[in-house]
Amino acid sequence: MTTRTTCRIAVLPGDGIGVEVIAEAEKVLWAVGERFGHRFVMERALVGGAAMDATGEPLPETTLALCKAADAVLFGAVGDPRYDDPQAAVRPEQALLGLRKELGLFANLRPVWVHPALAAASPLRPELVQGTDLIVVRELTGGIYFGQPRVEGRRRAVDTMTYTCGEVERIAHVAFRMARQRRRKVTSVDKANVLACSRLWRSVVAEVARGYPDVQLEHMLVDAAAMHLLRRPRDFDVVLTENMFGDILSDETSVLAGSMGMLPSASLGTGPSASPGEGRFGLYEPVHGSAPDIAGQGIANPLAAILSAALLLRYSLGLEAEAQAVEAAVSRVLDAGHRTPDIAAPGQATVSTQQMGALVVEALVGR
Ligand code: NAD
Repeated sequence: MTTRTTCRIAVLPGDGIGVEVIAEAEKVLWAVGERFGHRFVMERALVGGAAMDATGEPLPETTLALCKAADAVLFGAVGDPRYDDPQAAVRPEQALLGLRKELGLFANLRPVWVHPALAAASPLRPELVQGTDLIVVRELTGGIYFGQPRVEGRRRAVDTMTYTCGEVERIAHVAFRMARQRRRKVTSVDKANVLACSRLWRSVVAEVARGYPDVQLEHMLVDAAAMHLLRRPRDFDVVLTENMFGDILSDETSVLAGSMGMLPSASLGTGPSASPGEGRFGLYEPVHGSAPDIAGQGIANPLAAILSAALLLRYSLGLEAEAQAVEAAVSRVLDAGHRTPDIAAPGQATVSTQQMGALVVEALVGR
C-alpha cells in the first residue's frame, strides 16, 4: 500500500458475470472509502475474451502494466463461449496463468465460511456443515503443474513433480501466520507415504512449525483429507497443501458453502511484507467463472466478488476493520433474508445482482 489513505486498485472485470459482480464489488469499495475516509483509485482494464476482442490478446501489456503499478488487483472472471475451442492457441483463460506468473502469485487462499442461514443451501446435511470456517492455503506456482520435463507422446506421457525447500517454506509461513490470526491450527496435506516431494514437504513444514509453537500442526494424507473435509469440516482451520492437491481440495470444500456465488479467493504475491494483514500485493477474485449460462440476466450472486474485495482490504491494504465491516454487512443482508436465486430456498423471494450490491452498501453505511 502506498499510504493508509490512498490505494491504487487495478480492476479487471473480464467476461460474462465477471462484469456484473465486479460492478457491485466496486460500489462496496467506494462505500468503504466514504465511511472510513480512504481514497481508492480504481482503474479498469480489459482481460480475457473482452481483451481478445479489442487487442487479440487475453492479457494485453497495458493491463499487466496497470496491475504491476497497483497495490492490488480486483479480478472478475474470464471465459467466453466464442473462444471455447480447447485446441485454440489463444484462450481467455490464459490471462489468469499469465497474471499468476508475471505477478509472482504463489499463495492461493480460499476461505470457506458457512453462513448459518445458508447451511441448508449445501448439498450436505445442514448439521454437518453448520459452523464450518476453514481456509485452504494452496501453493500456486510449483509442483506438477509447472514441472519439467513434460513429455506428450502418442502412447506415453510424462509430467514431473518438483518442489524446492524454499517454495515449501514460504507457503508454510503464510499458513502459520494465518493460523495465528484464526484458531491456531494447521493441517498440512500431502501424500508422504508415496511421493518424494511430499516427504520433503512434510519435513520442511515440520521445521517451519518450530517457529510457531503456539500453532498446532497435524499432517494428513490427501486421500484421508478428501474424506474428512466432508465428514467433519468443522475440525479444520487452516489447510496447507501443494498445488494440485489444493486445486482439487479447494473445489471439494466449495460445496460446503452451497453456491459458487458465495466463495471469495485471494492470490498473494512475493511482496515486501511477509505477513497477511501487513499489506502484500495480491489478486482477488470470486472462485466462480464467467457463467455464460446466466450472464446478462442480472441474477448472478455478487457476494463472492464483494467478499473478495473484503480480502483485498485485509491482505493487501492492511485494513482489517474495513474488511470486517464488509463481511458484517454481508452477514446482515443474509440474516435479513435477502437472496439471489442461487442461494434461495424453493419459493423464496429473490433479489437481483444490483439489488444485492445495493443492500450490502446500505448495511455498510448504516442507512
Ligand atoms: P462457472 O463457475 O462459470 O459456473 C458454474 C455454475 O455455477 C453455472 O451454472 C453458473 O451459472 C453458476 N454460478 C457461477 N457463479 C455464480 C454466481 N456468482 N451466482 C450464481 N450462479 C453462479 O463455471 P463454468 O460454467 O464451468 O465455466 C464458465 C467459463 O468460465 C468457462 O469459460 C471457464 O473456463 C471459465 N472459468 C473461469 C474462471 C476464472 O476466471 N477464474 C474460473 C472457472 C471457470
